[in-house]
Amino acid sequence: METVRTAVRVAVRVRGVVQGVGFRPFVYSLATGLGLTGLVGNDPDGVFAEVEGPAPAVEEFLRRLERDAPPLARIEQVSTRAISPTRSEQTFVIVASAAAGPRRTLVSADTATCADCLAELGDPADRRYRYPFINCTNCGPRFTIVRDVPYDRPLTTMAPFAMCDACAAEYHDPADRRFHAQPTCCPACGPRLTLDGDDQSPLRKAAALLGNGQILAVKGLGGYHLAADATCEPAVAALRARKHREDKPFAVMAADLTQAADLAEVDDIAAALLTSPARPIVLLPRHARASVAPATAPGNRQLGIMLPYTPLHHLLLASTTNPIVLTSGNVSDEPIAYRDEEARERLGAIADAFLTHDRAIHIRTDDSVTRTFRGRPLIHRRSRGYVPEPLTISSGFPRPLLACGAELKNTFCLAQGRHAFVSHHIGDLENAETLRSFTEGIAHVRRLFGIEPRVVAHDLHPEYLSTKYALDLADADPGLDLVGVQHHHAHIASCLAEAGERGPVIGVAFDGTGYGPDGTIWGGEFLLADLAGYERGGHLAPVPMPGGAAAIRQPWRMAAAYLGDGTLPVARRNADRWAAVTAMAAKGVNSPLTSSAGRLFDAAAALLGVRDTISYEGQAAIELEQLADPRRAAEAEAYPAGLETGPGPFQARGSDLLHALVADQTGGVPAPVVAARFHHGVAALIEAGCLLLRDQHGLGTVALSGGVFQNMFLLNAAVTRLEARGFRVLLHSRVPGNDGGISLGQAVVAAAKT
Ligand SMILES: [Zn+2]
Ligand SMILES: [Zn+2]
Repeated sequence: METVRTAVRVAVRVRGVVQGVGFRPFVYSLATGLGLTGLVGNDPDGVFAEVEGPAPAVEEFLRRLERDAPPLARIEQVSTRAISPTRSEQTFVIVASAAAGPRRTLVSADTATCADCLAELGDPADRRYRYPFINCTNCGPRFTIVRDVPYDRPLTTMAPFAMCDACAAEYHDPADRRFHAQPTCCPACGPRLTLDGDDQSPLRKAAALLGNGQILAVKGLGGYHLAADATCEPAVAALRARKHREDKPFAVMAADLTQAADLAEVDDIAAALLTSPARPIVLLPRHARASVAPATAPGNRQLGIMLPYTPLHHLLLASTTNPIVLTSGNVSDEPIAYRDEEARERLGAIADAFLTHDRAIHIRTDDSVTRTFRGRPLIHRRSRGYVPEPLTISSGFPRPLLACGAELKNTFCLAQGRHAFVSHHIGDLENAETLRSFTEGIAHVRRLFGIEPRVVAHDLHPEYLSTKYALDLADADPGLDLVGVQHHHAHIASCLAEAGERGPVIGVAFDGTGYGPDGTIWGGEFLLADLAGYERGGHLAPVPMPGGAAAIRQPWRMAAAYLGDGTLPVARRNADRWAAVTAMAAKGVNSPLTSSAGRLFDAAAALLGVRDTISYEGQAAIELEQLADPRRAAEAEAYPAGLETGPGPFQARGSDLLHALVADQTGGVPAPVVAARFHHGVAALIEAGCLLLRDQHGLGTVALSGGVFQNMFLLNAAVTRLEARGFRVLLHSRVPGNDGGISLGQAVVAAAKT
């Protein structure tokens, strides 16, 4: 009777990523273990519970609720409130989901197969032995199979698979690891793997095909991949030819960390990334001895490596001796194929066979791409494994908001309250398929999180399809607030938002192309910026881009625009058009002016004979970085560049760097040394610009953003110089510094302005 008299009852509300991650069974076993009665359930707001019992036990419950939460749960808020004890309950129960009301709960990201499932996968006594779709509450598909919230089986693409008795028993047993695991299944009731329609030993046959140098289409979590034996040059070269992908590196899947370490240098941070539940591709310094076909990553010192993240991958890699190339199932720059019929159509001419299954993918997501810098992860492409988990932005979004992002490497961002949902990687908005992916993605994320935007942010470029989409929305709904955000301001704002800061800072935004409000193309910018606004403090001195977009595809044109010297080797190599192009630049015919840092790197690359034309964005700069002698990373020798100051923004003379480069080259200095000195020159130019602005404006923090800082040689040199001068330097980590981060920047700028 003593305990009954002292019983207390507390209503608990948990917000965050708490659905589909085993939270209710966790609460159930925690409560029953402590002898508490009550209930737990899911609703559109997250998880609710009521617990009743002696006060010390209830307190212990609340302590452990956050401390011992399941591995995939991300608790954002726990609120409690004392209510009257009922004193009549005998048990603790899990109650049914309620679908009504506003949706504020979070769907978790797709998650790599957990250790428990892997153990069962390899256990001949287990009923899911070698079953390629094994999963549990702690792992498996999530975002890619969810059609709507609340996250329950009927609203996923697992709906057509009726659970067998054994699976249903686990699903309904609160003590089981698969309690309410929505995608749970087994060989008796779940999806089936087939090789070209045949379900007899598809894995063994698939492995044999790979071993014979054939190309496989493999259905993954967020779309189809194309696979080939990574050590087999004819297979990888054939894949390249059939995909129409000339030089851009392919990613490799290694069976485990040991195999990955045979291919590349894997330090602790990289190992943590490789084995994290998100399982991104990690760009790593490859070993010279790595036995990988040259066509995998031609002329590249890096290798993009990932580890198996689905049971299918684990089984496939266990049956092949070699690592495999695993690249997006697409032709050229199209989005990754994810629907079965569409995959057959688009990949039929590339793949020799299809390893596929009958669990539908609801939304396409590409593999994420990361690397490490000074002991922390840097993300280049944030997609599968990370989305749709939101970034929590302390300044928040008073009104629901949609930011439409940039044109290249597009992502969009939906934001509400303190959450910014930066979308999966959509791609380059240049074809109908990608645009459809963009509009359908927005509709899907809006539905999932119940966000009705009242503010729409967009780039200033009138021709971006994302801008046109924003303008169309506003036409259809005059109540929407439309906010245009300058491209490089968005870059710096995304860096600030990630760091939880508002500025003002010196923002150095170096990239290829962004619309400048003065009618020139910006891309080598020093901004005095906070979230709400910016002032242009300085920039690279503008040069003509002879032929416009042609100058992006043909870096030699930038060498002509910068120097025009017909005696240079680059001029002799392009003699047939050199005079016409320099004349075009001089007269300003079809030659928009640009302050782009990307184009400055292009010019340097062409002068050094690295590349006169490119086959993918940023290629010349990437190869120039590869050329730079890494032993010179710590060297201070840097080409000087003058800063022209006047009443307006300062102008940094990029041409000074190129003249010094040519002088060294003519003097016989080896190209890797010249390339290193050029990189140091750009870093010194950044240092000089920031020092000048600190003197003028008293700002001591620098934010670095833009795709050019994906160049690790440059980033390292710039950060070293800035820190030596006492600057605090903000860098990206969880959001791409390239145009994939623009949508977040637009979102926080629009929120600060409205
Ligand atoms: Zn599992
Ligand atoms: Zn079953």
